[in-house]
Amino acid sequence: ERKREGKNGAQVFDASILDRTRERAEIENDIHAALAGNWFEAHFQQIVEIETGRIIGFEALMRMRHPRKGLLPPAPIIDVAEETGAIGQIGEQIFEDAIANLARVSRLPGLGQTYVAVNFSPLQFDSHLAPYLAGILNRYDIHPSRLVVEITEAVLMHDNPEIRRILDAVHQLGCRIAIDDFGTGYSSLSYMSRFPVDIVKIDQSFIRSLGGNRLEEAEKSRMLVEGISAISHKMKCSVIAEGVETDDQRTFLKEIGVDCAQGYLYAKPLGIADLMTTLAHTDHELKSMAV
Ligand code: C2E
Ligand code: MG
Ligand code: MG
Ligand code: MG
Repeated sequence: ERKREGKNGAQVFDASILDRTRERAEIENDIHAALAGNWFEAHFQQIVEIETGRIIGFEALMRMRHPRKGLLPPAPIIDVAEETGAIGQIGEQIFEDAIANLARVSRLPGLGQTYVAVNFSPLQFDSHLAPYLAGILNRYDIHPSRLVVEITEAVLMHDNPEIRRILDAVHQLGCRIAIDDFGTGYSSLSYMSRFPVDIVKIDQSFIRSLGGNRLEEAEKSRMLVEGISAISHKMKCSVIAEGVETDDQRTFLKEIGVDCAQGYLYAKPLGIADLMTTLAHTDHELKSMAV
């Protein structure tokens, strides 16, 4: 006890390492219990076509429903799961939940062509990925074109020929590939030419600074977003802006021709029950006919 309170900096540092080790061990335990007890579930956030306001797809986002701690966010869990290797099993549970629920959503009028975008960790890219995806899609009778595989730039960073082959196989299957958090990696632009990319998701940090109160920075962000969008379109990719929260952001994105938006302005990620209720109260057929 007395030692920990001592003025020795190294001992204070040790204590915080200990805290982190405990926290990590606790997450590891939670992951074990969650895999056994089916505590993982996909939540869904709408992706909207800016021009028409129509829902064109949903991003599946992992949550852990802990019986005592409640609904837990994915980031710390994924960090630990990538270290221990549990991410493979978690990823499969989320993917299967996402596809099963896309099948349910598809039965609602006007939503039969929507897609689901699922996040994949670099560790999930092995040679079994494409046949595995094909098997699950087939089981739920979902056409591969209705799956978007979201990868971060970390997957592409090492220009690994094995990763290339896997991405090509997934693409050949008919699934689309999206680069997530675009613009935050090491050589974002080069990935567009070297890999079979269909969709570019502009990172929310760029969207957040569009209307910032530092005028020069906001102006530069607007030029960046406009430039990324133009280049993406030239590369035959469609563009989604992430983290859209305000009407001003939407107006600007519409002006410069960004295709789609995702963010709290439209909807937060919802569990499947809430999603079905929300969707049932909107007339998607009327919306698409109004185009
Ligand atoms: P991401 O794929 O970039 O997902 C978007 C994140 O932004 C989500 O956070 C979402 O809830 C949040 N978001 C959406 N709209 C807004 C907005 O208007 N404002 C703000 N501030 N945030 C918004 P979430 O659900 O906490 O997920 C965090 C990250 O965890 C994801 O970032 C993704 O990288 C990872 N992740 C989530 N689910 C999975 C999964 O099943 N597998 C893997 N490997 N990673 C996942
Ligand atoms: Mg994502
Ligand atoms: Mg993102
Ligand atoms: Mg992210």
